[in-house]
Amino acid sequence: MAYKVTLIPGDGSGPEVVAAAKKVVEATGVSIDWDEMEAGAAMIEKYGTPLPDHVIDSIRKNGVALKGPITTPVGTGFRSVNVALRKTFDLYANVRPAKTYPGVITKFDNIDLVIVRENTEDLYAGIEHMIGEDAAESIKLITRKGCERICRYAFEYAVREGRKKVTAVHKANIMKCTDGLFLSVAREIAKEYPQIAFDDSIVDAMCMRLVMHPEDYDVLVCPNLYGDIVSDLCAGLVGGLGLTPSANIGVDGAIFEPIHGSAPDIAGQHKINPTACILSASLMLAHLGEAKAAAAIEKAVSAVISEGKTLTQDMGGTASTEEFADAVIAKL
Ligand code: NAD
Repeated sequence: MAYKVTLIPGDGSGPEVVAAAKKVVEATGVSIDWDEMEAGAAMIEKYGTPLPDHVIDSIRKNGVALKGPITTPVGTGFRSVNVALRKTFDLYANVRPAKTYPGVITKFDNIDLVIVRENTEDLYAGIEHMIGEDAAESIKLITRKGCERICRYAFEYAVREGRKKVTAVHKANIMKCTDGLFLSVAREIAKEYPQIAFDDSIVDAMCMRLVMHPEDYDVLVCPNLYGDIVSDLCAGLVGGLGLTPSANIGVDGAIFEPIHGSAPDIAGQHKINPTACILSASLMLAHLGEAKAAAAIEKAVSAVISEGKTLTQDMGGTASTEEFADAVIAKL
């Protein structure tokens, strides 16, 4: 029986990477009935919203989506569709693996870490308002429930994936209430997992340590905003945004997407690296219980990259998005 999956191509370069990932998934032989849905700025004129109800209904019905990036206007305009989806489906855990693949030129060759980012709370929830014209206020709301479930998710993930250590990232020396709550909950939950080592780091020192000794880290559990920033830093360490996938996991569904944005500067040029989206699709297959197909995709991607013959520009090659995807399919 075919799995039903909502497919959101997104905008900018999104449709290019999503088409590549879809083709690769289909080449694994896993049967998927794609429910293709559009979201983003282009929908406003037609439906009065960038996130029409039928898109939400499709994800609710299918429980799983593969999604391309969607542009969010900076400073003004509509609120992020990506954040709205995470909130609507309570996708509280954003899992972002960052791993070095032999063949990509990076400063380090031994990184294999996973950022587990809280996905619904914190400053990133965007609870803010103007105070008159010359001041603005943003509220950093963090709850015990939010902290508990993300910390537990990080430890359960570590156990399930054979990981050795969880590091909690915070700024509890300054934000003693909000980040203090996060840290104290992380410490409590760590006691339930004696087989997993636990430590914590202030976010600024964490950034310094990550760029000097990334090999020291395994699973990082972070409040929303630090997770957002630290995961892009880690993407830089492993060769750039083109290589890092993500899974948004919640109680009511799961959405898989590359961590990069819509890359408008290269949209339509067929040079965007589809690896992040292809690896996101691999995470999706693992989530669906298709572990063999998921592993085969990762192995094929790794083989194409280490061979070095068919690489996109960001990896130092000249291949198009489609040529890279075809090379992955050939390996499969
Ligand atoms: P971006 O990630 O789109 O691009 C940053 C830079 O990295 C650009 O130079 C781009 O060309 C390059 N890049 C990104 N992905 C690449 C890939 N796969 N291969 C090769 N190069 C790649 O970030 P941005 O320009 O700050 O954001 C553009 C838009 O995307 C914004 O509207 C932002 O809000 C949105 N965004 C959406 C998501 C999402 O849908 N989940 C995530 C992040 C940003």
